[in-house]
Amino acid sequence: MKSLIESVVIAVIITQIAIMATTIYLHRALSHRALRLSKAASFAFRGILWITTGIVPREWVAVHRKHHAYTDVIGDPHSPVVENFLIVQFANVYLYRKAAKDKDNLRKYARDLPPDRWDKALFDKPLIGLGIGIVALFLFFGPLVALLVSIIHMVSYLMLSGAVNAIGHTFGDRPHDNLATNNNWLAILTCGEGLHNNHHAVPTSARLALKKTQIDIGWWAIKFLENIGQATLRAPRPRVSSSAASS
Ligand SMILES: [Zn+2]
Ligand SMILES: [Zn+2]
Repeated sequence: MKSLIESVVIAVIITQIAIMATTIYLHRALSHRALRLSKAASFAFRGILWITTGIVPREWVAVHRKHHAYTDVIGDPHSPVVENFLIVQFANVYLYRKAAKDKDNLRKYARDLPPDRWDKALFDKPLIGLGIGIVALFLFFGPLVALLVSIIHMVSYLMLSGAVNAIGHTFGDRPHDNLATNNNWLAILTCGEGLHNNHHAVPTSARLALKKTQIDIGWWAIKFLENIGQATLRAPRPRVSSSAASS
């Protein structure tokens, strides 16, 4: 029982760190250029994603930009309107892999992210990154906790990513004119990503919360990075329409 509680706590922390890296680096910085990160911060995020998710950044960016280009119509890699809701929620990783391996997608949507020497040596090799992560867990916490943490983290990360794409396009508030939805409870679990209706309304905004009651922990982290000189917000800042600000 003690091992299970310890494993859940460690897994929650690792999943939240992975989600933070996903929303700040992969989503807001790389995909939408809503902010620019210092070399050190970028490298740290790349390392975190490599050992906690095995995601190849340019693949994630290509899939995500295609999602914005074809939101909820044929061509969207993971739309609950086009696909079944349950498939997007529970088999999002399958849909992601299919789109990520499409070379035409990569050429079209991630042309600005050619692999650098670090990608060639390390970050384009997901299994090595994930292997390092698991070995580190094994060395720090032993085999049982390492196994439990790996499983809990993998399921949590995949289910929360699936929830942003499935729940975030099906259930919740739609203050702006798009099919995505806002769910504050999901935003709390995903460092702000659950404010998905806001995001589709202003995709180049580094801030996903548009009202005081909306919780965007990713934005708090970005403000911290800005304060210590590791992040620069897009200039000029994207305009949020008055209906968006007041809704
Ligand atoms: Zn979306
Ligand atoms: Zn986006």
